[in-house]
Amino acid sequence: MVSAMEIYQLTPKLNCKKCGLPTCMAFAVALLAREKQIEDCTPLLEPKYEAKLKKLREVMAPVAGATETGLIIHEDRCYGCGNCVVACPVNVANDPKGSAIGLGPKSDKVILIVEDGVVKCLNPKECRRFGPNRILCNLCTATCPSKAIEFV
Ligand code: SF4
Ligand code: SF4
Repeated sequence: MVSAMEIYQLTPKLNCKKCGLPTCMAFAVALLAREKQIEDCTPLLEPKYEAKLKKLREVMAPVAGATETGLIIHEDRCYGCGNCVVACPVNVANDPKGSAIGLGPKSDKVILIVEDGVVKCLNPKECRRFGPNRILCNLCTATCPSKAIEFV
């Protein structure tokens, strides 16, 4: 996954503050946290930064597809084993007789399910990583044997 330093290298490095932040490095960090949009850096939209803008859009594309918790599923790496589904503490709490024991979901508040052989994230707002009181839970990533789930 792209790092804040890699994003920083693609900014104009002017520290002009037009994005509302004190430095281009702060802007890079905010972009990675999805707190800013690329277009908030107006100098980047100038023709002389066209190549940087193009590259930045490329490297940011996977991050743009992340859920509100920063969860990204790499479908090409998932083989549907279901480890993450039974490990997720929210699935366990909300669906103890369904997804938590490897059966089909019996609750509409599960986060992770396997469908057609690939994991899906249904309710990111239920995730322990969501919101201001978030906990840096990582049970889904820790139990995945193929690194198919990632947080950015
Ligand atoms: S981070 Fe925790 S709560 Fe969120 S989906 Fe993964 S295992 Fe579930
Ligand atoms: S994301 Fe990983 S742990 Fe979850 S079903 Fe896919 S391969 Fe298994």
